[in-house]
Amino acid sequence: MGAQFNDRSYACRSMRIDLHTHSTASDGTTPPAVLMREARDAGLDVVALVDHDTTAGWATAVEALPAGLTLVRGAEISCTTVVEGRTVSLHLLAYLFDPEEPAFAARRLALRDSRLGRAQAMVRLLAADGVDVSWEQVRARAGGVVGRPHIASALMAAGLVATVSDAFTPEWIGTRGRYWVGKLELDVLDALRLVRGAGGLPVFAHPFAASRGRIVGDDVVRAMAAAGLAGLEVDHPDHDEVARARARQLALELDLVPTGSSDYHGANKVQGLGAETTTPAAYDALLALGSALDPVHG
Ligand code: AMP
Ligand code: ZN
Ligand code: FE
Ligand code: FE
Repeated sequence: MGAQFNDRSYACRSMRIDLHTHSTASDGTTPPAVLMREARDAGLDVVALVDHDTTAGWATAVEALPAGLTLVRGAEISCTTVVEGRTVSLHLLAYLFDPEEPAFAARRLALRDSRLGRAQAMVRLLAADGVDVSWEQVRARAGGVVGRPHIASALMAAGLVATVSDAFTPEWIGTRGRYWVGKLELDVLDALRLVRGAGGLPVFAHPFAASRGRIVGDDVVRAMAAAGLAGLEVDHPDHDEVARARARQLALELDLVPTGSSDYHGANKVQGLGAETTTPAAYDALLALGSALDPVHG
């Protein structure tokens, strides 16, 4: 693997591939069926649906798949690792795994259950401080898996913050912020084994996004590579040039597939579909590793 990944004219194709989007099945604002149409309208040839800790959007996305668009089914799994005695959250993208494989399915269920209790606890903390946001308002915004963006959206509707992003601060619901409550997250090495055990392809999402808190060292990525990591998300809206260069170099060194994606969340984030893309060469290399499911062609 190597230099060919930078060649966007690889095999004379000009495919546009976005391997990281969210729908209303988790904390995006676009229903999966609409997302598929939007993806095609945005000129994408391949789109991956990777809602947090769930596969609930897959079936409607497949049903709605427009001609000419290929869907990669996946999920983004909430994980942690420990760096110098401190727990750090990280996200693992899992592509094309068997949704029925019981061990991984059971852990996804546990992650979703934990998210529900934790969101309710955050609303209770807000209420105890006199902040006028109810559980009903949050629940009304969550079409499936509940996440902090749903609480942020309720805070925005109440006029307490100007944007969803403005709620991700120490004063509000930023990590370890005033009204933040932790949730269950899987040890990332366990998660890698679970994804591989279900025939999936694990890719480390936004590995060096400084805006998301403490960044892991190269040693963590090396340990993940040894545990079965398939790829590294190099091009991501939360990566600056330094983060991209570091991820690209590490991918080369560890023989990991370098991907690029928008992490589209509809109105909950600014970046549009296809804002970042994966090269056809990288996409082919990822699929060549073999997985339980195949992409679905519309
Ligand atoms: P949770 O998984 O419930 O802890 O919430 C984390 C989610 O919030 C992730 O999907 C992020 O994409 C999203 N998120 C994190 N920071 C921001 C931000 N500054 N603006 C909008 N969404 C964010
Ligand atoms: Zn999200
Ligand atoms: Fe993420
Ligand atoms: Fe994401």
